[in-house]
Amino acid sequence: MLALQKVAEGVGNIELREVPEPEMAPDQVMVEIKAAGICGTDIHIMHDNFPYWPPVTMGHEFAGVIVDVGSELEGWQLGDRVVGEPHTKACGHCYLCRTGNPQICTEKRSPGWGIDGAFTSYLPYPTHLLHRIPEGMSFEHAALTEPVGNVVTDVLLNAKVEPEDFVVILGPGPIGLMAAMAARAEGAREVLITGTDADEPLRLKTAREVGIDHVINLQQEDPIERCMELTGGIGADLVVDCSGAPPAIRAMPQDARKLGRLCAVGLTGKRPVEFDWDAAQGKVLTLYFNMSTHYSCWEPSLSMIASGKINADALITHVLPLEQWQEGFDAIEKMEALKVILIP
Ligand SMILES: [Zn+2]
Ligand SMILES: [Zn+2]
Repeated sequence: MLALQKVAEGVGNIELREVPEPEMAPDQVMVEIKAAGICGTDIHIMHDNFPYWPPVTMGHEFAGVIVDVGSELEGWQLGDRVVGEPHTKACGHCYLCRTGNPQICTEKRSPGWGIDGAFTSYLPYPTHLLHRIPEGMSFEHAALTEPVGNVVTDVLLNAKVEPEDFVVILGPGPIGLMAAMAARAEGAREVLITGTDADEPLRLKTAREVGIDHVINLQQEDPIERCMELTGGIGADLVVDCSGAPPAIRAMPQDARKLGRLCAVGLTGKRPVEFDWDAAQGKVLTLYFNMSTHYSCWEPSLSMIASGKINADALITHVLPLEQWQEGFDAIEKMEALKVILIP
């Protein structure tokens, strides 16, 4: 079978290779991959900015169908349509795993960088990480569950959008747009999203098309001034950074109201960040950090995609055969794509 692999350490070194079909353990199922999304993480792996163990098949945002069931398993059938949490190899006995947080277990090795992943035809998988795809949902839409799950974990479960909150989202990439959609769907009064000139052609345009209340190009308009105007000088209840851009992070306390919440979603790529500590103290803010998806976000994420609260069609700009992976990676880098789905 063909597999898109990071074949060696360094920048680039990604190749579509012929590999043998994988073996399956008696406590696993074999998932035939029907759709797999390209994540920002995959772009980081291409640029050598994220840990990985080469040669390794890339891809962790998958949807597929069970084509073989291990001899020790009950409850799963051939033809079951599934998505999977990427928390493979989590140890199950450390304090993180035992407190329900295998997503940050130090032993965890996700498909796509730690073990062979989903940019290929078959992926053996442990069933405790699987969730069923609702009837009527396409594999392409289901492949968004993992990135939507990140947003649901960060913005809804941790930072908790409250009824009638005014929410500011910094950064209109796929994750920022998902965060804006999720906040709107789950009770925010109004959502303001910010971007730059480079975001205008696709990202800010999409934000306007899907009905985000206030879409601000910060190179044309001061978003903090606008936020204050819209909130009667009080500030936002919740400010979510999905940009990882140091100047955006620096401005977070200025957008927030006193006793407001800040939520960190984006990564800076190790760039240093200046943060106005005293302003955050003065406003008595709470800052939420998170990494990866919690178990509790998976069923809500599937349901939000199924109901259209997350507008999957607006987010998926490219569906390409696996062979055209390069086109997908290039489109993301040139900001000509939001989510790109590869079909093996
Ligand atoms: Zn991802
Ligand atoms: Zn563990």
